[in-house]
Amino acid sequence: MNENETTVDVVVLGMGPGGEDVAGNLAEAGLSVVGIEAGLVGGECPYWGCIPSKMMIRAAHLLAEARRIPGVAGSSSVTADWEPVAARIRAEATDNWNDKVAVDRFVDKGGTFVRGRGRLVSSDTVEVDGHKYRATHAVVVATGTTAAVPPIPGLADTPFWTNREAVEAETLPASIIVLGGGAIGAELTQVYARFGVDVTIVEAMDRLLPLEEPEAGSVLAEVLTSEGVTVITGTAASNVSHDGSFHVTLSDGRELVAEELLIATGRRVDLVGIGADAIGVDPAARSLAVDAHLRVTDGVWAVGDITGHGAFTHVAMYQSKIAIADILGKPHTPADYAALPRVTFTDPEVGSVGMSAAAAREAGIDVMVGRAEVPSTARGWLHKTGNEGFIQLVADRKRGVLVGATSMGPNGGEVLGLLTLAVHARTPIEELRSMIYAYPTFHRGIEDALGQLA
Ligand SMILES: Cc1cc2nc3c(=O)[nH]c(=O)nc-3n(C[C@H](O)[C@H](O)[C@H](O)COP(=O)(O)OP(=O)(O)OC[C@H]3O[C@@H](n4cnc5c(N)ncnc54)[C@H](O)[C@@H]3O)c2cc1C
Repeated sequence: MNENETTVDVVVLGMGPGGEDVAGNLAEAGLSVVGIEAGLVGGECPYWGCIPSKMMIRAAHLLAEARRIPGVAGSSSVTADWEPVAARIRAEATDNWNDKVAVDRFVDKGGTFVRGRGRLVSSDTVEVDGHKYRATHAVVVATGTTAAVPPIPGLADTPFWTNREAVEAETLPASIIVLGGGAIGAELTQVYARFGVDVTIVEAMDRLLPLEEPEAGSVLAEVLTSEGVTVITGTAASNVSHDGSFHVTLSDGRELVAEELLIATGRRVDLVGIGADAIGVDPAARSLAVDAHLRVTDGVWAVGDITGHGAFTHVAMYQSKIAIADILGKPHTPADYAALPRVTFTDPEVGSVGMSAAAAREAGIDVMVGRAEVPSTARGWLHKTGNEGFIQLVADRKRGVLVGATSMGPNGGEVLGLLTLAVHARTPIEELRSMIYAYPTFHRGIEDALGQLA
């Protein structure tokens, strides 16, 4: 036996939501599994992503609701305080950024945990600090993504924030510039504004949430502006410097100054760092390509952000189930992303599933669009303050089914559940029209939008 080599059934590289799920389930199934993690078991979602950001959003939402009392339910005076938010993130979400519970959970399932940065050296072997872990059955790559930092002159030399510093912050700055108007940038912008921070959000594309229906970006820009945010779209940052404050020069010559700068311009995979060339993958690729069974090549599977099928925890978990079944040789349904749901947890929430109207037209579909404005629905009207949003359905006229939908509004992410089922199950539009929608719910707006399909 070579003391610099360990042979097991399965090696899992990266123990975020995807890798942790694969590794734990395969260990429970009786395979010998080594799980390798350079940072914290659980990955981005519990420590710097979904969970702490949604705790911030919950707190910010409470402030906004309290401020909506005047004119509807009396009067209110609100004093925002970041301290309980930071304390809750530290104590309840991240255990002070300690993964002992998660490591123990994996070990209790029979797994072997290795803390370190791994690198593929062949399609069956991962090396960590000179030790080789060889898999007789499967290598699973689940190394996720990190914040992408754009090559703006000057930026690299400044102490900018990514989502990591944003989540770890014990106090908030007086002012912040947020570069990037996608889901993460928009969510944090609204949190900061509601806690009294002077926020400017800059998006290079012509609207916020560029991946969503155009109306979602414009409604959100109006809401954020009404909450005191300066929204700049269609303009990129061309230079950054820091002299105690951040100075961001925009492509139109304007200069922005703020105490902090948050970079929220997307996520990137690191194929060079994981040694993707050792399994014949171009390290310059944007993701690790997988087939519908999550296979990269013989003996290698990948799950999660790294596969490029949507940087969401629910994608990692969905793929994990398929990869586990495939590795165990069990029957399973191949991956299908046609009904992939996404939620931006701003207020109003923006939920969407499947294709936008533009994407459906590009795909050659004979598109029908139906739309209902949330403030014009019974529930939206009585909800009154904070009722912005719309429900938009994208249908394939020929097949008579929905291929996409957006539900923006209060609880837009929850309304999305019904729409996701309709797209996933290819429910005939006539079937959707024949069902009973409880009065007066937000989801009843779907019936109104169905009536407008044309
Ligand atoms: C601010 C923010 C908010 C988000 N909110 C949501 C949300 O509301 N809903 C949602 O669904 N998703 C959300 N996401 C996305 C979600 O966090 C990711 O999609 C999810 O964490 C991806 O899981 P993963 O397993 O692919 O990878 P990751 O969570 O990125 O984990 C990968 C792990 O691999 C480790 N690793 C990397 N390279 C190596 C190596 N060479 N050796 C050993 N270990 C390595 C890393 O340290 C990391 O722990 C959010 C993300 C952010 C940043």
